[in-house]
Amino acid sequence: VLTPRKEKGYGDCPNFPGTPPADVVYRPDRYNDLSEDGRLLIQRWARQARAALARPNSRSGNENHRKKPSITSSFEAFIFAWISFNGWASRCLESEDDVKLVNVLSVEPSLSDTFAQLVNSNVQVRQSLDEFSSQWPIFRTADVRGVALPQESRAERVERYVLQRPTALREPRCHLRHDDGGPPADWGHTLRTIYRVRCNLFHGTKSAYGAEDREIVGSAAGVLVPVVCHLVLRE
Ligand SMILES: [Zn+2]
Repeated sequence: VLTPRKEKGYGDCPNFPGTPPADVVYRPDRYNDLSEDGRLLIQRWARQARAALARPNSRSGNENHRKKPSITSSFEAFIFAWISFNGWASRCLESEDDVKLVNVLSVEPSLSDTFAQLVNSNVQVRQSLDEFSSQWPIFRTADVRGVALPQESRAERVERYVLQRPTALREPRCHLRHDDGGPPADWGHTLRTIYRVRCNLFHGTKSAYGAEDREIVGSAAGVLVPVVCHLVLRE
């Protein structure tokens, strides 16, 4: 029995969904009924996201860095992909409420299956997902400002955030429930955490440590862009 707890970190888990909102139903066929212009716009954002992700990092002298997109390209890729995803999802759900959108889609079984297939068949997606989920939970930037130390590892930093900022919002919000190795990097946990990254980015807050931002946004984009291309371009 899962007892509700007030501390952050014990929030509801997408693997134990509650009652879905009655007013929002996921119907992917609604995307097909969209006007040609509307669909083209959503698809154009997805292609721009893919192009940004593929852009080589010409400004980096470091060979390893050059293969990865620059932080600007990663941010662009992530934001374009989110706009495309949002357009597709608001159509499929007939709702423009982002929170509902994430809550309903994160527990949608057909999307869980699609996501698992994509991760299993695409090495790059799997690597990005490993890199992304190894940094979970992602906290709301404004809630953990001033706590990070420059030399610590991500794991040490997360531990410090949890102890020193127990009320900080974070995703997966259920991470402390998963005391056996952390939350699984499945569709539900991944979508919710991508949405946390999106909120951190769109609200213009940046953490003090650029390298960590690069890793979080870069790996999140490496997951989100192929998912969105699959959903809206059917590729
Ligand atoms: Zn969970």
